[in-house]
Amino acid sequence: MNALRFHSTNGQAPPVNLREALFAGQAPDRGLYLPESFPRLSAAELATFPELPYPDLAFRVLRPYTVGVLDEPVLAELCRDAYDFVVPLEPVHDRTHVLRLDRGPTASFKDFAARLMARLIGRFLREEGRPLTILTATSGDTGSAVAHAFHGLPGVQVIVLFPLTEVSVRQRKLMTTLTGNVRCLALDGKFDDCQALVKQAFADPALKHLPLSSANSINIGRLLPQSVYYFYAASRLARPGEPIVFAVPSGNFGDMMGAVVARRMGLPVKRLVVPVNGNDAFPRFLTTGVYEKIEPSRNCLSNAMNVGHPSNLARLVALYGGRMDERGQLHQSPDLEALRRDIFSTSVSDGQTLDTMRSAWQEHRLLLEPHGAVGWRGLLDYVATEPLDGAPAVVLETAHPAKFPDDIERTLGFAPPVPPALAAAEAAPEHYDRLPVDYAQFRRYLLETSNRDHP
Ligand SMILES: *Cc1c(COP(=O)(O)O)cnc(C)c1O
Repeated sequence: MNALRFHSTNGQAPPVNLREALFAGQAPDRGLYLPESFPRLSAAELATFPELPYPDLAFRVLRPYTVGVLDEPVLAELCRDAYDFVVPLEPVHDRTHVLRLDRGPTASFKDFAARLMARLIGRFLREEGRPLTILTATSGDTGSAVAHAFHGLPGVQVIVLFPLTEVSVRQRKLMTTLTGNVRCLALDGKFDDCQALVKQAFADPALKHLPLSSANSINIGRLLPQSVYYFYAASRLARPGEPIVFAVPSGNFGDMMGAVVARRMGLPVKRLVVPVNGNDAFPRFLTTGVYEKIEPSRNCLSNAMNVGHPSNLARLVALYGGRMDERGQLHQSPDLEALRRDIFSTSVSDGQTLDTMRSAWQEHRLLLEPHGAVGWRGLLDYVATEPLDGAPAVVLETAHPAKFPDDIERTLGFAPPVPPALAAAEAAPEHYDRLPVDYAQFRRYLLETSNRDHP
């Protein structure tokens, strides 16, 4: 069978297969890759999902995308290896549940995508017999998820840049306690400085001979695995063919795009609820049809969602018939009516976030950190406009409460229990290098590091 093709949202780059899209990250015309068409899973196939453990279900959802580039038994093995942790669906009331995506090694939902993407990339590299250096800048969760995902993979080296004073101690330790093929570089600067150095390195002709790749959040390899847990939750809660409501706390819109993909593949979704924090460009756009990004982005408690312009929005706009470029310029408006029919969005303030953490605990003994609280509040706002009428609903909790002990302590008065993965990192010795914000020094560091490790 022919491999599925992926085309760019900017429409100016030639279509590629999954392997090529994975290594490219961004398309050469600066657009984002999307499948040319979405494989449909039949009702008969979906009817088998309630019996499948998570890794097997992941294999069935992802299989159509890897036809022609990866053998089926290999994909099945990679899924089993990536998803070796539990995916709890916690009942809250009636048919409303919280899906806890926080049991991976770095305790955020980013483990789901990073772990499978790393295994796919590692597998392709092995077949091609070439090395690769993943260079990534992080403000917290992404760096640790990516570093853990690639940790120990032969042929891959990871360099993570982070702003020394802007990541929490727990976030830092999840990266700096890794050894071997992971190197962490603390910058005496801000996250934007880290990102700027990484961008400059990718554009630097003097580094063209290094096998650099980015593994950032716009990679299609991050998006597709994020469709799986929507199928998983529905298979456990909804009757065959019964529509379900999802609420997804959102920043760069990679997570919510997983639900959009699942729906296009045939999963009945009644409404997709997309709450954001104070960075409210999207809910405003849904209401007015005018898109204005938030510059600079606003600092809110749910810090992994402090995104002024969600980079995956270009994909959503494209799937609804519009076109948005990488700067957030709208060249063609999407079908707003269809968007409003499918998606409900709302902005949740920091005050509401803390209130929600408190009330969820008091009313339901439901323990939420700030991101999950934005999600829960989004569902409440939605239900106030349109009652569930007995439909199943799922709120995604995207991080473990123990990653936000101060917020929990000050709203609920106790410290959340620390899961084993976080506790282990707490105790291990740290290793990291330090540099000032200086491109010449950073370039020398990259050249020395890669010469040492890929002689
Ligand atoms: C990254 C992140 C989000 C936002 O996900 P997007 O795909 O960027 O919308 C939400 N919660 C947590 C804990 C995260 O790390």
